[in-house]
Amino acid sequence: PADYQSPPYYPTPPGGWMPDWADAYAKAHAVVSNMTLAEKVNLTTGTGLYMGPCVGQTGSALRFGIPNLCLQDSPLGVRDTDHNTAFPAGITVGATFNKELMYARGVGLGEEARGKGVNVLLGPVVGPLGRKPRGGRIWEGFGADPVLQAVGGAQTIKGMQSTGAIASLKHYIGYEQEMSRMSSVVSVGYSSNIDDRTLHEMYLWPFAEGVRAGVGSLMTSYNDVNGSACSQNSKLLNDILKDELGFQGFVMTDWLGQYAGVASALAGLDVAMPGDGAIPLLGDSYWGSELSRSILNGTVPLNRLNDMVTRIVATWYKFGQDKDYPLPNFSANTADQTGEIYPGALLSPIGVVNQYVNVEGDHNITARAVAREAITLLKNDQNILPFRHNDSLKVFGTDAGPNPNGPNSCSDKGCDSGVLTMGWGSGSANLPYLVTPQEAIGNLSNNAKFYITDTFPSDVVASPTDIAIVFINADSGENYITVDGNPGDRLEAGLNAWHNGDDLVKAAAQKFSNVVVVVHTVGPILMEEWIDLAPVKAVLVAHLPGQEAGWSLTDILFGDYSPSGHMPYSIPRSESDYPESVGLIDQPIGQIQDTFTERLYIDYRHFMNANITPRYPFGHGLSYTTFTFSSPSLSVVTPLDSEYPPARPSKGSTPVYSQKIPAASEVAWSSTHFTRIWRYLYPYLDFPQLITAADTYQYPDGYTTQPKPAPRAGGAQGGNPALFDTAFSVQVQVENTGSRHGKAVAQLYVALPSSLGLDTPPLQLRQFEKTKDLAPGQSEILTLDITRKDLSVWDVVVQDWKAPVNGEGVNIWVGQSVEDLAVICEVGG
Ligand code: BGC
Repeated sequence: PADYQSPPYYPTPPGGWMPDWADAYAKAHAVVSNMTLAEKVNLTTGTGLYMGPCVGQTGSALRFGIPNLCLQDSPLGVRDTDHNTAFPAGITVGATFNKELMYARGVGLGEEARGKGVNVLLGPVVGPLGRKPRGGRIWEGFGADPVLQAVGGAQTIKGMQSTGAIASLKHYIGYEQEMSRMSSVVSVGYSSNIDDRTLHEMYLWPFAEGVRAGVGSLMTSYNDVNGSACSQNSKLLNDILKDELGFQGFVMTDWLGQYAGVASALAGLDVAMPGDGAIPLLGDSYWGSELSRSILNGTVPLNRLNDMVTRIVATWYKFGQDKDYPLPNFSANTADQTGEIYPGALLSPIGVVNQYVNVEGDHNITARAVAREAITLLKNDQNILPFRHNDSLKVFGTDAGPNPNGPNSCSDKGCDSGVLTMGWGSGSANLPYLVTPQEAIGNLSNNAKFYITDTFPSDVVASPTDIAIVFINADSGENYITVDGNPGDRLEAGLNAWHNGDDLVKAAAQKFSNVVVVVHTVGPILMEEWIDLAPVKAVLVAHLPGQEAGWSLTDILFGDYSPSGHMPYSIPRSESDYPESVGLIDQPIGQIQDTFTERLYIDYRHFMNANITPRYPFGHGLSYTTFTFSSPSLSVVTPLDSEYPPARPSKGSTPVYSQKIPAASEVAWSSTHFTRIWRYLYPYLDFPQLITAADTYQYPDGYTTQPKPAPRAGGAQGGNPALFDTAFSVQVQVENTGSRHGKAVAQLYVALPSSLGLDTPPLQLRQFEKTKDLAPGQSEILTLDITRKDLSVWDVVVQDWKAPVNGEGVNIWVGQSVEDLAVICEVGG
């Protein structure tokens, strides 16, 4: 259908035209001008699965000091190693609504990546966006809202890259379900069919902010969008990412997510990861020597290869990796000190592969602060929380305790045993240690008893003053591991707690008159079976806290801090409250067509639009104290004196290289002098001199080498810079009116006027700020800035962002959740 197309867009706009990248590109140009074809191809193609210390590595160009670049997961800590911090997961970070903590965690991640010799840390995740409540990887990102994702992603990127590590924003785009995600020789990944407006206003938004934050690399997703695979989709890569968003870094595939050689090169891909072709470990690749061949026979323009390499080398310079950047000192393949250097090879040299470098620093402090500030108090009847140290506590549920086999016993966290600290898959990391809730509560309470079982113990005696704390969880992860029938997505478990958690709460509520429920969860969870039972006085969602699970929780339970987390998604009353189109699609044969028919209406946008009251709305979160918001004021900063933004700046120049096809000898095996490792991916060919111009290649429809006019919505990283001018600035006074100290979050939502001529969600989050810790009676004035883009819709005809002139008819709300909006500013009456 017309709405769901991937029109061709060629050629790839070369990088290098942004002023703040000019130096890095000039350095790259000087180097790339002198590279051989082999050196260039080397940098574009991974050396193969298990062909080096990291989950992926490029080839090197050692003559210029460029080593194999190490690419390693994950978004919450350096994966598959030791002496690293296991930070809280993205969804936890989103729940803090704290920009400084988001940044600080990014710095910690970057420092640890650098310390281990990781050039590119594979995160943050802003796709999935959180469209599907059962989607397996929604916990890796920051919540079911494009602005929350955008801020979480951008702050993480800025923090990470301040250390010299390169971030990789992923997964671009429409990757909302795990099942059937990938194409291979035996399967075809689903197509996410997304109309242009929904793409821009929802799924692209956080990617645009990541590019604006200067992200150095980006990873495509496995799935198709509108019938064209993301790793070779010219509309998504050449047009939207590299032209409209002005992305200056390099684009890599997801692992084994490259499905063709020439097509991906022409569509704007720059790096193939981990380099292997359709069948891994055969020693062949869609690129590598085949990319060399396609240059020699003229199929892929030399320009395109030069641009790929320039983007990679410029990014390496941009973040200062040419100066004293460590080489990898760990192996993702083994924990042993010595081992195979290339475990994927037929015969590998052996050497020291792990140096056990401790990179934790004092990052436990940040990890604990994030986990603590994320804890979201949903309900607190009779102020049962916080506890006193001598309260009689009875603690239930395996989620309070350890994994009996050790915190890292399940590979990539592929089991749900003990307290849930993160989901499973490549987005996990080893826990250097784990403080469980059981340990932390045991340490701080004078009067706690633990029943670390999934079934309620029949012999437990309840006295009227007892408080039962019931721990429950819900897990999910990545598709290559199935846990309890859940292939990544929560196919089997649905939105209910795992391990009969609902029964545990109900049983406790029968025996005890005071029950506090603690939930560790990857995403939305149903609470209806027990939330209204009279004994269930309090509910805390602790999200996925990482290694500091215990201490961060007791910081809140015993009242050292007031909770200040807010829900990064809604808690529904029933799964049927969601639009049908956001359910999982499980279809064994044929390509799944996953059409985003709900368009902009996911999570709270849907609930509000459909007049459905969720159990707890997006943004909800109580404190031990109370806050009032008052004295709102609105000032015009940059007048919105036109519907569309002023004309974009024109592009700067990009590097120019010789057009001469390199000599075949540059990629001839015969000219190399080293021992060949079988299955390692090299750029070399036998008899390249015999290659003649190809005359049979069928270019995609619409293919051209004639540059396109610059898109009007572009002009700088993230888009036309005028989109990001502050249009209005809102100030609001937040006062702590209660009797304990605490932090408040001001969330700003906009309602766009119908004069724009389009349906828009009733309210959309556009900005948030958190106060400092306020003492009783203390107040703080928060400033919330909103941009032109924040007040715009994507005009699919004009292909630009359209705002109401002067903001006429816009309503701006500020409050403590999407359903608790205290102050309103109306623009233009
Ligand atoms: C995941 C990516 C990850 C990559 C490398 C893939 O399976 O989708 O998120 O970065 O593996 O481990």
